[in-house]
Amino acid sequence: MSVLKPGLADRYEKVKSNLALAEKESLRAAGSVFLLPVSKTFDIEAIREAVGCGMHAFGENYVQEGIEKIRWFRENEPNLDLTWHFIGRLQSNKTRPVAEHFDWVQTVDRLKIAERLSEQRPVELGPLNVLIEVHISGEDSKGGCEPMDVPALAQAVTTLPNLKLRGLMAIPAPSDTEEGKKAPLREMFSLYTQLKDMGFDIDTLSMGMSSDMKEAVECGSTMVRVGSAIFGPRDYGNKESK
Ligand SMILES: *Cc1c(COP(=O)(O)O)cnc(C)c1O
Repeated sequence: MSVLKPGLADRYEKVKSNLALAEKESLRAAGSVFLLPVSKTFDIEAIREAVGCGMHAFGENYVQEGIEKIRWFRENEPNLDLTWHFIGRLQSNKTRPVAEHFDWVQTVDRLKIAERLSEQRPVELGPLNVLIEVHISGEDSKGGCEPMDVPALAQAVTTLPNLKLRGLMAIPAPSDTEEGKKAPLREMFSLYTQLKDMGFDIDTLSMGMSSDMKEAVECGSTMVRVGSAIFGPRDYGNKESK
């Protein structure tokens, strides 16, 4: 895991003020976009410092790494009320630890995963918040539900007892141009609006990262997931994947 780089508090303040400015310029209400810090590859010390800066929710991509952090905080800092979002690719044989530890899963993209998460969610923890990940731009062929299949999956998820459908998430392919960034973000907003119009009780559209936060806010995001702009560059040196 990466060692803590100096300046976490400064970077966090900078991201918060950029987010506030983006809200203002887009005529969005102040505070209407939730900032989710993405702590993948950063160690417990970095997260403790982040908590000291006022962060209380974290996004993690890797099951084992995320669970180690969640357990550490539950054992060593039981009074902290932290919220953990799983934002990585989820294989069906890894759903159990995710259902047992995380508060949100943002990357549900097929019914099998949803069914397993619901079955494996300990009832006493309350429903697991889920977002459907949408495959929005052709380039990254890895994950996400095809846009046309989203309403049916959303419908199915709402019937599962231990899941609470909260909305949609996307990771658009990176683009260097403003228009290239905005096209998929607009498509996501329209899909989100369509689901609301169909009567789904959802409140979260998770899109926007360090490089497209401003565009995402303009296009209607309600949650931006920001890693490197807060924690600094990631070091994948001793990670087995990605
Ligand atoms: C790593 C990651 C982020 C944060 O990316 P940055 O570019 O560091 O802000 C957001 N969302 C997902 C799904 C990620 O994997």
